[in-house]
Amino acid sequence: MKMTKTKGKMPKGLYIHIPFCKSFCPYCDFFKVKMDEELCQKYTEAVVKTAASYALDFDTVYFGGGTPSVMKSSQIVSMLDAVREYNNVDSDAEITVECNPSSDIENFIFNVADAGVNRISLGMQSAVDEERRLLGRLADRNRVEEVIALVRKAGIENISVDVMLGIPKQTSKSLDETLKFLIDMGVLHVSAYMLKLEEGTIFYQRQDELDLPSEDQVCDFYYQTCDTLEVAGIKQYEISNFGLKSRHNLKYWNCEEYLGIGPYAHSFIDGKRFYFNENLEKIDDGIGGTEEEKIMLGLRLLEGIDVSDKVLEKTKKSSDLREYINIEGSHISLNRKGFLVSNRIISELI
Ligand code: SF4
Repeated sequence: MKMTKTKGKMPKGLYIHIPFCKSFCPYCDFFKVKMDEELCQKYTEAVVKTAASYALDFDTVYFGGGTPSVMKSSQIVSMLDAVREYNNVDSDAEITVECNPSSDIENFIFNVADAGVNRISLGMQSAVDEERRLLGRLADRNRVEEVIALVRKAGIENISVDVMLGIPKQTSKSLDETLKFLIDMGVLHVSAYMLKLEEGTIFYQRQDELDLPSEDQVCDFYYQTCDTLEVAGIKQYEISNFGLKSRHNLKYWNCEEYLGIGPYAHSFIDGKRFYFNENLEKIDDGIGGTEEEKIMLGLRLLEGIDVSDKVLEKTKKSSDLREYINIEGSHISLNRKGFLVSNRIISELI
């Protein structure tokens, strides 16, 4: 059954979670499973079956993980085929696959590009080999460079690279090396996230031995990243994202609808939020699209959001909040200083 586009309804985003990794990074607390060929095949079949149980309109598809590039390209393609067969995917849909540059992924990239994937997100974290090694990342800088060239050769220009701020031993100089590398490589999008020490991870247990930069240094790294990328024309549009906007991720921040397939993939459909647990049981997660939620998500965007008179009043009254918030009519947005303490600001507003 192939659905025709529902008149008046915005197309949704589709997120497909691939929970497999070849090895585990010492800072990661995501749900993940050691890569196993048989499991990957069974998982592909389960995703195909789930995709066939929906009949929705999508204009973005995002394969995230875990590490989608540990799958066979034929498995990614069969998931994508099933999505297209039973749902309606826009002809100009943004289709992203997250890849780990350490994998042997030449054929993978060419095959998924042939199947319509038009955006690749690379988990680089740092262009400094020692920093990458400390993070458990196996590819060296030359390999990252080769993979970027390979992605372009496959006809995909929309390349996003992840960068991490607050890595053990990171300095302003080493961060500059990473940012210059990305600028020289001409990548169109950068995601820059701060390392968080999550309980239960190796980094959490060994934090005293790690030679981590101080909190103030990490704040300076954030400003350095924003400034350096801005000068290079890779402009910030969200707390942690820069450059050519990710159409898929914008759906989350704009409180638009999306379907998530896979363990701990979240969905927002018809005003309701839900997710699947690791046994793929559906768990209700309440009502979505409330004003609180719109503030929480929308204030991550540089452009900000329109708010109610009540929230506006609260913002205007507090001299503390005004230090971090720009106000224009009924529209508010966080400044860079505000981005660094966004959780506190948002919880004061809602
Ligand atoms: S590759 Fe990604 S999901 Fe897998 S362990 Fe490393 S950080 Fe976690």
